[in-house]
Amino acid sequence: MGQMMDQPLLISSIIQHADRHFGDNEIVSRRVEGDIHRYTYHDCHTRSRQLANALGTLGVKMGDRVATLAWNGYRHLEAYYGVSGSGAVLHTVNPRLHPEQIAYIVNHAEDQYLMFDMTFLPVVEAFAAHCTTVKGFIALCDRDRMPADSKIPNLLCYEELIAAASTDYEWPLFDENSASSLCYTSGTTGNPKGALYSHRSTILHSFASTMPDSLNVSGRDSVLPVVPMFHVNAWGLPYSVPLTGAKMVFPGPALDGKSLYELFEQEQVTFSAGVPTVWLGLLNYVADNNLTFSSFKRTVIGGSACPPAMMKTLRHRYGIEVVHAWGMTEMSPLGTSCTLQSKHMGLSEDDKQAKLEKQGHAIYGVDIKIVDDAGLELPWDGKTYGNLLVKGPWIISSYYKQEGGSVLEDGWFPTGDVATIDGDGYMQITDRSKDVIKSGGEWIGTIDLENIAMAHPAVLQAACIGVFHPKWDERPLLIVVKRASFDVTREELLAFYEGKIAKWWTPDDVAFVDALPIGATGKFLKNKMREQFKEYKLP
Ligand code: ADP
Repeated sequence: MGQMMDQPLLISSIIQHADRHFGDNEIVSRRVEGDIHRYTYHDCHTRSRQLANALGTLGVKMGDRVATLAWNGYRHLEAYYGVSGSGAVLHTVNPRLHPEQIAYIVNHAEDQYLMFDMTFLPVVEAFAAHCTTVKGFIALCDRDRMPADSKIPNLLCYEELIAAASTDYEWPLFDENSASSLCYTSGTTGNPKGALYSHRSTILHSFASTMPDSLNVSGRDSVLPVVPMFHVNAWGLPYSVPLTGAKMVFPGPALDGKSLYELFEQEQVTFSAGVPTVWLGLLNYVADNNLTFSSFKRTVIGGSACPPAMMKTLRHRYGIEVVHAWGMTEMSPLGTSCTLQSKHMGLSEDDKQAKLEKQGHAIYGVDIKIVDDAGLELPWDGKTYGNLLVKGPWIISSYYKQEGGSVLEDGWFPTGDVATIDGDGYMQITDRSKDVIKSGGEWIGTIDLENIAMAHPAVLQAACIGVFHPKWDERPLLIVVKRASFDVTREELLAFYEGKIAKWWTPDDVAFVDALPIGATGKFLKNKMREQFKEYKLP
């Protein structure tokens, strides 16, 4: 046996490290209260211990679930460490879900306490009575901001709990495979299912995600996670950032272009991460006001495919490196990231761009493969597409409470995505298997069709769905939101596809709409669009 120390990999060790080694580095938060709050990793560690004590006093035990309904902010970060560090399970709930869905998730998780930002007071009031296991609701504010006459049963004040709790607390040591946190998938098909992470999986994911060819977080960065802490733990940034001692900047509820831009500049943000839809707002604001970024150097875009037009704008107009990344709630979430290797340095700019548009190479810890419907592995030639399977120590083996039974196929997790992998191991998502358009027995991937439309100057947003066709079963319909003060016709848009794609892939028609339905994690809701256009008659 090796003769190294046997220390469990526990989440509490991250905040302990951040305090001890980078204790005076800053955490800056735009608060729900409207102001900017500043404190340090040392302060965060102190208050996380106070929270752990307070939860202990309330009777929260090892393994109990404690939910949050909160924006990205310092109190939420304290919950990340105070709850998980004490051995309880942090259940981050997406407040953008319908109150009924929230109640379902909270009951399913059997949450004991629920912490919430005051923005969500009306939401909590709407579902609190339906929560059967919650013993108390903790408002993330001070006494002055507590509602005078709320109907919420057993309403507690966070700042009061913290003030009354001792800072004297030793983080407990326990098995690193213990559950640490719980996230539910958005449940676009059926009820949401829980992914239950462990301390070990979280720490390994944090190590891997800081590497230069994944998220590349360093102690010299000022990091602003736009991706919410209720969306797969903000892609692990609340762990990986303190691990490096980088400055953390939280945007709170202000996610509009102007507020984000001001915070980026004020806090000299160097690195950020988010889904494509959030960058639209920021980029529009910056372009409309003829602004530039003075510190922003790098961003990770994932959650849905990054439109190449957006990547080019960020890269060429603003000099920002874009790392396209792919993952899932079930994968903690990081699976692949797209950065180039030495052998690609000699490629032409166009070839580099084409490579960077892919979802990228597996990061160490994750293995990927594509298979056909019979489960046979398909070649890595960049052309053959198949079902994407993954495995690794931060990928689920079963859903919480064994919902849906065993999910693995021969030890691999089927992602539900369809992809190609090229000879260099770079994976590209063709589509989600449920979104692929089946036209006359052949498959059409919608991401390519959307990316082309997004490159048209008059297109603000584009989504493609399959609609019924009497001869071909399904044909692509392009749904477009036009940019304000731009115009474009159906014919012009369809002509824009010429030469860019196989002719039979070209959409049959274009529907112009005022807005596309967007889900709780900032992604287009294709099931809603399919419902909306169910009776659509193609020309
Ligand atoms: P949900 O199903 O709750 O939306 P996730 O946020 O975990 O859950 O979404 C995971 C899915 O998002 C992936 O299976 C994939 O279809 C899609 N996705 C994530 N990143 C990318 C990306 N870079 N490009 C294309 N699709 C992506």
